[in-house]
Amino acid sequence: MMNVFQEIEDIRRHRWKEPHQSWGVVPTMGFLHEGHLSLVRRARQENDRVGVSIFVNPIQFNNPQDLKNYPVDLERDLTLLRAEGVDLVWTPAPEVVYPPGFQTYVEVEQAAQPLEGEHRPGHFRGVATVVAKIFNVFQPHRAYFGQKDAQQAVVVQRMVKDLNFNLEIVVCPTVREPDGLAMSSRNARLSSEGRKRALCLYQALRTAQQAISAGERDAEQLRELMRRVIQQTPGAEIDYVSVADPLTLKELEQISRQALLSLAVLIEGVRLIDNVLIR
Ligand code: AMP
Repeated sequence: MMNVFQEIEDIRRHRWKEPHQSWGVVPTMGFLHEGHLSLVRRARQENDRVGVSIFVNPIQFNNPQDLKNYPVDLERDLTLLRAEGVDLVWTPAPEVVYPPGFQTYVEVEQAAQPLEGEHRPGHFRGVATVVAKIFNVFQPHRAYFGQKDAQQAVVVQRMVKDLNFNLEIVVCPTVREPDGLAMSSRNARLSSEGRKRALCLYQALRTAQQAISAGERDAEQLRELMRRVIQQTPGAEIDYVSVADPLTLKELEQISRQALLSLAVLIEGVRLIDNVLIR
């Protein structure tokens, strides 16, 4: 039986009914796809009980139009989660998470500044704050995040370390469509033409990855290769293209050991991100 609650007291009561069971939690904004479900399955494997939060967190949206257009289908989400054997789902209203008088935020510094942080001011302050709240509501042993949002995983891991949250962060691989497009709730907002054009993100990453395999080590050359693939796609607008250190997220000049290739691109006004990790 899957229990679905809005109120924090209900989640807490259910969470602590069997105090000896281990809990894994998957924070989401809903409109679930195979990427989310891969995290749920991993959580299912590694814990006695699985909790999922579905909350479109208003304070992590710097663009009001993006928030307004964010797709929602709670009934479908709950059906998918029931089929995965999820135990507990938190679907709070915004007033439950941010009641009147709310004024405390979590701010991760350096890791949240470049890339998404630079292009979406306040985004990671919103993410870190809501993730801290989700951790405090569920008090899980483990929490599951996708590599798809690489910087988010870095920011959350930093917060857990710095604020001594007593749980393990598990980062799971990016799940892709058969043609390579990274699954995202925002893909639903693309027209069929936009859907085809959206493939340029993965193509750009693959092009850079192949150049690295062929011996390219100059990070600016790699950024240029990625930019060229995007610029050849009609209607695709680059937000950023990056070759950075996967831990510090600082831009690299040369690739020596690891690198995170990442990019954000607007297609039909929909902001898409993707990345690959080079080891
Ligand atoms: P969201 O609902 O977009 O906030 O995503 C919730 C969680 O699912 C985050 O940890 C994301 O990184 C993860 N996620 C989203 N898309 C994918 C994907 N294609 N593959 C793996 N994880 C994903």
